[in-house]
Amino acid sequence: MGDHNLKRVLQRPPVGVARTAVLIAAARATEQRQLHRLFDDPLAEVLVEAAGSANDLTGVRTLAGEHFVLRTRYFDDQLLTSAQPQVVLMAAGLDTRAFRLNWPPGTTVYELDLPELIEFKEDALHDERAKPTCERVVVPCDLRDDWATALIHAGFDPKRPTAWLLEGLFMFLPPDDGEWVLHWVSALSARGSTLALEHVNRAFRELPQMRAVQQRFDTMDAGWRSDVEDPVAWLGGHGWQAGVTHPVDLAASHERPVPAITDPRKVGDARIWLASAVRTA
Ligand code: SAM
Repeated sequence: MGDHNLKRVLQRPPVGVARTAVLIAAARATEQRQLHRLFDDPLAEVLVEAAGSANDLTGVRTLAGEHFVLRTRYFDDQLLTSAQPQVVLMAAGLDTRAFRLNWPPGTTVYELDLPELIEFKEDALHDERAKPTCERVVVPCDLRDDWATALIHAGFDPKRPTAWLLEGLFMFLPPDDGEWVLHWVSALSARGSTLALEHVNRAFRELPQMRAVQQRFDTMDAGWRSDVEDPVAWLGGHGWQAGVTHPVDLAASHERPVPAITDPRKVGDARIWLASAVRTA
């Protein structure tokens, strides 16, 4: 076995729901090759390579790749605009924002994800000698368990305002686990904290275009488990003042075509929610 292949085996590429992170990194790596790109993510390719490519997920990427790119830029802007001293990337996956964004001095970025995903990512980034642009703290944990204690032990201070990101997570969690996550995010949020999230409604989950994707995810043990009809009300019930950005408006603001998967002319009332919120209570 060559050195390269041996390294891949030792790095144990993510499997199950953690493998969905490779899918998103692959979309970001594709964007990185564009001349007029919406963000810079030079490490995305490195991480996909280390995972041994994402070719088995090409179907999902074809369907949703442009959405992943637009949502990445949307959340980049949300996080930088909120300019909080601490940032928590929930289910960070292979997100490299701690390395590629221009954070205000003194920012600490916490990355939470499953231990096996974090271990793989740390190995791959270590090989690249990647240098974060903030103080970066990884917190291996299962978000269905007591992640809040793990985060506090890692140095997080609930008395300081926080910018939370929940990108590409909630649909993989059963409703009770989603509630658990949002409950603790809210409990740990000082007034003025911000939150940005992605979720989908039931009509989106049930789209005929999504059937093959759902089947692929199911076979990976990464099936979707939940949806929300009114994210503004959901967040409001947890003490957040929220608003949503329509993916059509997002695409227009970046002079990009509307991805077919978010185009109301093709998907009707099916929605991918992109929400942002401020802690008012
Ligand atoms: N937020 C990242 C992004 O957009 O690039 C990753 C999104 S990826 C679609 C879903 C991520 O959720 C994976 O990294 C997976 O490991 C993580 N995840 C799913 N269930 C989890 C759980 N119970 N605890 C921690 N992480 C979880």
